[in-house]
Amino acid sequence: MTSASIAVVAGDGIGQEVMPAAIRCVDAVTAHYDVSLDWREYDWGSDFYRRTGAMMPVDGIDQLSKHDAIFLGAVGTPDIPDTETLWGLLIPIRREFQQYVNLRPARTLPGLTPVLRADQPIDMVIVRENNEGEYSEIGGRYARGTEAEAAIQEAVFTRTGITRVARFAADLAVTRRGSLTSATKSNGIVHTMPFWDEVVAGVVDEVAADHPGLTLRNVLVDALAAALVLRPWDFDVIVASNLLGDILSDLASAITGSIGVAPSANLNPPRRYPSMFEPVHGSAPDIAGQGIANPIGQIWSGALMLDHLGQPRAAAHLVAAFEQALADGVRTRDLGGTAGTEEFVTAVLANIDSVG
Ligand code: ATP
Ligand code: MG
Repeated sequence: MTSASIAVVAGDGIGQEVMPAAIRCVDAVTAHYDVSLDWREYDWGSDFYRRTGAMMPVDGIDQLSKHDAIFLGAVGTPDIPDTETLWGLLIPIRREFQQYVNLRPARTLPGLTPVLRADQPIDMVIVRENNEGEYSEIGGRYARGTEAEAAIQEAVFTRTGITRVARFAADLAVTRRGSLTSATKSNGIVHTMPFWDEVVAGVVDEVAADHPGLTLRNVLVDALAAALVLRPWDFDVIVASNLLGDILSDLASAITGSIGVAPSANLNPPRRYPSMFEPVHGSAPDIAGQGIANPIGQIWSGALMLDHLGQPRAAAHLVAAFEQALADGVRTRDLGGTAGTEEFVTAVLANIDSVG
């Protein structure tokens, strides 16, 4: 029996509703396998901020470091600036634990009509560099208020940073359809992007020496955005820098359906530090407390967590169970159905026992 210790931060708004829903589903599926998860809840988030002036305690990172993974709901509330919630919790966790891969699958799900015409099933994963690149603090505002005013923002790309994310993406592509696309803008951004292209190509050459089926396409991000809209089924794994990946991953999840279904993982692949699993959606204050939130984003994030913890069969079982619920027509309102969170979870739990 494998057991893993999971830090749970349900957070704000619908995080409080989709988190217990997802934990029930994950527990139900692990009961079929040789694994048990030990959940430890932390009441961090906006209420904690109102009480203490911080999103988490000063030793928060230290407390989290004792766990095998972090399962996060959503943080954010209309009356606290996003900068506080982001920089007070999410960004420190991503940085301190070197979660340099941000992974976002985007797939056509049964019974869901994609926003765009989809001639073929869509099944792609965006691998976004999560720790460096365009999101740096280097730079500043100069000569404020004068005619000469300027703002400079420097992007920092390192060989180590590009190599590790490219390797992760290439290894992932090998386990899938073998097609890797690298987002670039080396025609306009003349220092960092050519470096990105060069390092990615080197890594792919190395991986392809053992896996000759692996192919790499470098695509300018503007053309890639258009291609994602026109032919999303053409893509398997897309690797991109922090900024380009941020934009492309929202685009990819919008193409396949509701924001309520999209999962994400912030990974530290050598598993030296805990990785973090969270739905793409936010706290959705407009629907919080009504029992109508779609729990799929959180449940699917739980499946990514099981996969990362070395339980790919349990992960696939969990995904099959919510896909079957959708195929049976059980859908929450954001997907055009009438089911509440509880009704959807009941269907998933029944499917976990029948699809196994
Ligand atoms: P953030 O909290 O990151 O700032 P946001 O406020 O921009 O996010 P969300 O909180 O994700 O965005 O909500 C955007 C819209 O999508 C809202 O109308 C919300 O009700 C809806 N939504 C988000 N998640 C879900 C979900 N799980 N189920 C149903 N609707 C959802
Ligand atoms: Mg919000």
